[in-house]
Amino acid sequence: MKTPLIVGNWKMHHTVQEAIRLITELKGMISGKQEVEVVVAPSFVALYSSEIAAQGTPIKFAAQSVHFEESGAYTGEVSPQMLVDVGCRYAIVGHSERRQYFGETNAIVNKKARACLENELSPIVCIGETKDERKAGKTFDVIETQLRESLRGINDGDAEAIVVAYEPVWASGTGETATPKQAQEVHRFVSDKLQAVFRKDIAQTIRVIYGGSVKPDNIKELMAEPDISGVLVGGASLTAKSFGQIVNYKD
Ligand code: PEP
Repeated sequence: MKTPLIVGNWKMHHTVQEAIRLITELKGMISGKQEVEVVVAPSFVALYSSEIAAQGTPIKFAAQSVHFEESGAYTGEVSPQMLVDVGCRYAIVGHSERRQYFGETNAIVNKKARACLENELSPIVCIGETKDERKAGKTFDVIETQLRESLRGINDGDAEAIVVAYEPVWASGTGETATPKQAQEVHRFVSDKLQAVFRKDIAQTIRVIYGGSVKPDNIKELMAEPDISGVLVGGASLTAKSFGQIVNYKD
């Protein structure tokens, strides 16, 4: 039984003060008794102060992106070590917005995922098809290619630390949600493919989480699907009220 993973991606929202306020509100709602792992991904500039504000709570932190080099002349970038230094355990790589607006390819995602693993940071590797790709019946081809290329060269020993996030692009930030059945179908496919890439017993430990307009009113049905082991939440993670309801979906 995998521990469900609930990740809040704050994207380019919340100043440092707003982030601290949100963490403070969340504290009262997340006792650690939920039997879920709760992770939030503030902006780079709010990571450190958010982590300080969350000390003594079970809340963990993710970066929304990461660079693949250790250090050097990469203006504007942040290295895996820098993220570990401010308390991150996870880094999101290959989010569809990074792919769409910042040219992140599967090859770059692969470099980032490997750099994370070398630095004891768990990569949350995002994959997902566009609306056109789904309409053209290419969903499974796209997912298979993204998975294969993004995870290339990662060995069994590191695989356990990986999280895969299935985020259909057409359902991310759009208000449109994949039905639990649509999501489950792809999650099952991803789980099967992971078993082809990694040793079976190791592949079975990898959490495959769903993202795309997750809300308090659809979390229960999504989490009831056998191959969905958590969620990546955008819009609904921005207030303590809705994120708290999502985290406490078992109540
Ligand atoms: C996302 O873009 O990662 C996401 C899941 O956004 P939303 O929940 O707002 O669809």
